[in-house]
Amino acid sequence: NGAISFKDVHFAYDSARPILKGISFEVPAGKTVAVVGPSGAGKSTLSRLLYRFYDVQSGTITIDGQDLRMVTQKSLRKVIGMVPQDTVLFNDTIAYNIRYGRPGASENEVTTAAEIAQIGDFIRNLPEGFDTKVGERGLKLSGGEKQRVAIARTILKAPPVLILDEATSALDTTTEREIQAALDVVSKNRTTLVIAHRLSTVIGADEIIVLKSGEIAERGTHAALLEQN
Ligand code: ADP
Ligand code: ADP
Repeated sequence: NGAISFKDVHFAYDSARPILKGISFEVPAGKTVAVVGPSGAGKSTLSRLLYRFYDVQSGTITIDGQDLRMVTQKSLRKVIGMVPQDTVLFNDTIAYNIRYGRPGASENEVTTAAEIAQIGDFIRNLPEGFDTKVGERGLKLSGGEKQRVAIARTILKAPPVLILDEATSALDTTTEREIQAALDVVSKNRTTLVIAHRLSTVIGADEIIVLKSGEIAERGTHAALLEQN
């Protein structure tokens, strides 16, 4: 479940400047659709609308056929998991930061999620900069390790819908490949909307949508789009 549908969605932050100009696409349950396109095209705006940070001005967004305008943001957050570009950690242990995905989770579940995300070794540590106790030093996490915390959080939360918003774009190439592999595992069989700026990072998506100036310029599989370009 978790099928997403955008139907003729129009949106503007400021009525003088339309950002999305009639966007229609679907992410069938369990599938992955990637949205690529130049900076400023409106890609992240799509994910903000799906999270209901804003409401559409016309058109409809549904999850499992239910209009988002009928769903509270609180209940949406139970359904949608998000891995953002830069994960901001709370002033507490890595374990706490992972448990944020599902506050009721047991120690064991947190540990297992951390191990799957390959950060099992330092879940008792505090992130660097958050040295709250005398004599206790925070641990400096690399960008990739922070993304692993977000991945562990998502594994624990196990949401039916996943948004990956430029989740690897702040990483170097080698780390990007590693984190991408971890994200592929997490997004398998989950309804996933991937926001990316390069076609090469979304090879495995079931469909790729190229967004330009708030309109769908092209769509198709990775292979089909490569052929056209
Ligand atoms: P992308 O993710 O493709 O880079 P965005 O969806 O972030 O594009 O932004 C699309 C356009 O909307 C950009 O021109 C951006 O400046 C504008 N924009 C984004 N957020 C806001 C906001 N909160 N208020 C006003 N304009 C915004
Ligand atoms: P909660 O209400 O559960 O505290 P948050 O406000 O921390 O949730 O946001 C939930 C998720 O959405 C986090 O992964 C966060 O990084 C992401 N997020 C928060 N604000 C934005 C935004 N303006 N655009 C995109 N993602 C966001």
